[in-house]
Amino acid sequence: MRTYPIPLVPGPVSVPQAVREAYLTDYGSPDLEGDFFELYAACERQLQQILATQNDVTIHSGEGMLALWAALKSVLRPGDRVLAVANGLFGYGIGEMAAQLGAVVETVACAYDDIPDPVRVRAAARRFQPKLITAVHCETPSGTLTPLAELGTISREVDALFYVDFVASGGGVPVRVDEWAIDLGLLGSQKVLSLLPTLSMVTVSSRAWEAVSEVGYVGYDALAPWQDGPARRYLPYTHNWHGLAALHTGCQLLLDEGLAAVYARHEAVAAYCRQRLAGMGVTLFPRRAEIASPTVSAAHVPDGWEWPRLDAALRARGMAAGGNYGPLAGKVFRIGHMGNQARMELVEKGMDVLEEALKR
Ligand SMILES: *Cc1c(COP(=O)(O)O)cnc(C)c1O
Repeated sequence: MRTYPIPLVPGPVSVPQAVREAYLTDYGSPDLEGDFFELYAACERQLQQILATQNDVTIHSGEGMLALWAALKSVLRPGDRVLAVANGLFGYGIGEMAAQLGAVVETVACAYDDIPDPVRVRAAARRFQPKLITAVHCETPSGTLTPLAELGTISREVDALFYVDFVASGGGVPVRVDEWAIDLGLLGSQKVLSLLPTLSMVTVSSRAWEAVSEVGYVGYDALAPWQDGPARRYLPYTHNWHGLAALHTGCQLLLDEGLAAVYARHEAVAAYCRQRLAGMGVTLFPRRAEIASPTVSAAHVPDGWEWPRLDAALRARGMAAGGNYGPLAGKVFRIGHMGNQARMELVEKGMDVLEEALKR
């Protein structure tokens, strides 16, 4: 199996050494031991700090998609109206997931290389009167970052719950759950937190908990058991103690560095990456640099190249970058500079490799 000394895939992200060690320690039984529940509570407090919220943060065993499904299934019944604000693969996909659950979905459609216009969202929300408004902070496949404050205000105006996928931004750029009125905020372990893809987290507001108890959804991915389960020390399955130990270590690394310093590091690395791309004549995919996410750079595959050939050239030099999916497949590639990969010397190496590959 090939391994890559220059890991720049936008998730799963390279795992820092201290976190690797947390995974390899022996722990007791998470079903039975007080230590586990203290660890769970400590992780919740760290995540509240990182996400600027006093809401509960539930921590589930399963990768990021589990959070997306858990939150939809737990607050929606067939026939409920959902307004999906979509400007990329995940935004449109969340609308499709809600439709598969029997919700009546209207989509505020936006181009993949742009961010949604709040004026259109407000008009649609007033007319459609949704129960839930969904949005994506960082659209990882297209490298955009959507401002959320105004969308949160709109959700409150029409008394809708606000559901936000910040899987690829949380921890690396400011995410202000309470200020932006986010009722259901979704996070995964394998992006900025730089853990294995084994955990997902959901911030749940009191309004969202009310909807959860009204709907009464039961299942492995249900949110309901997590409302008071951790306090009662009774969980619906044997939890991932190793994952939580790693989560605690990963969050502590961010908090010890200082969140302002972490965000500045992501900004600096992203700016450097984009400057190098421009210097090679590679065009950024988002239409304006101001809407590009500090966690990932998406760029057009240069003229004269097919992505598989460029990908092979990078991999032959030890670098793994990200390809793409859906309408962007083969056309847009990505450099994931988030979490443990938001390091100047790593991105510098990656850009040197790309520059050399493009010269051939
Ligand atoms: C990574 C990611 C997820 C989780 O999906 P996987 O690709 O299955 O890990 C969800 N939303 C966004 C925006 C992501 O970047």
